[in-house]
Amino acid sequence: MASKIVEVHPGIYEIFLPLPMRPTIINVYLVDCHGAWALIDTGMNSPESIGTLEDTFRQVGIELEDLDVLIATHHHIDHFGASGQIRSRSHATTHIHKLEAARADRMLFFGRMGPADRPESRPFFEKHGFPIEEHSASGMRPAWMGTQMYFPVTEPDRFIDDGDVIEVGDRKFEVIWTPGHAPGHNVIFLRKEKVMIVGDHLLPKITPHVGIYPDAGEAANPLGDFIESQKKVQRFDAELILPAHGGVYHDHRHRANQIIEHHRCREDEMLDLVRGKPQTAFEVAQQVFGGEERPIFHVMAATFETLAHLEHARIEGRARRIERDNRVLFQTL
Ligand SMILES: [Zn+2]
Repeated sequence: MASKIVEVHPGIYEIFLPLPMRPTIINVYLVDCHGAWALIDTGMNSPESIGTLEDTFRQVGIELEDLDVLIATHHHIDHFGASGQIRSRSHATTHIHKLEAARADRMLFFGRMGPADRPESRPFFEKHGFPIEEHSASGMRPAWMGTQMYFPVTEPDRFIDDGDVIEVGDRKFEVIWTPGHAPGHNVIFLRKEKVMIVGDHLLPKITPHVGIYPDAGEAANPLGDFIESQKKVQRFDAELILPAHGGVYHDHRHRANQIIEHHRCREDEMLDLVRGKPQTAFEVAQQVFGGEERPIFHVMAATFETLAHLEHARIEGRARRIERDNRVLFQTL
């Protein structure tokens, strides 16, 4: 069996944890701080994932209970889903951005209902053209929602924010706030080692979901934030990039440029579709991402990702928003 733990830099270990969905693996990073141990991200709270953490910790001579510090890149289930269990067993000092702690708390609340049950979200779905009436609330949410698989810490020991330095043993973890994929997403930078732990921000092969959801404010521009966050990380001098999914790599500046270019092309594709005829985000998403034979949860994500692109285009002055019959339509300028 292939090893589930690899030393990618002296004292920095990549651990591969299983996920029951795509992507099928999340990489978390265990750091020997010489006298203390830190873990960046946690995996899900599944027996398989916790078992793999226990086994791999033992391979470096520690127990899960010995962990001293836990730092999250963001609140999503694969990154922070096991934090509640890990903290309760290890008492590790747990760090996350306050926007992410709030979202983890809200995810637990939403776990007890579906988006269609949330009265404030229904008009949002409708105005963006999404046929919410045709779908059951249960189909609108991921299978893990409302289960023990998501067991996050919602009251961390410390909130982290841009520029913070978390000192653990002989290591210094610098926090680089990179909103976009999640509003309180952080990249963790080890300046001396020139190692950057990038969470979902800078994946080598895929791009993370960036969407506008019902609870985003009117001024929300997550795609604009995401692109700015790509430019931001390019200002840091890193040699080894440790992503949450996919292999470790070296040139984060090149990858950031590719990601910016990918979203520019996608936005252009969408603007071509609404050049002559104004359309809703849902209609555009059906053409760009394909409409049929996909779980409705994915159709919803595609709609809100499309909305993030169209709003970004509007804020850039490339598109207008037209309100007609309780629908929001976008048209290229
Ligand atoms: Zn994520």
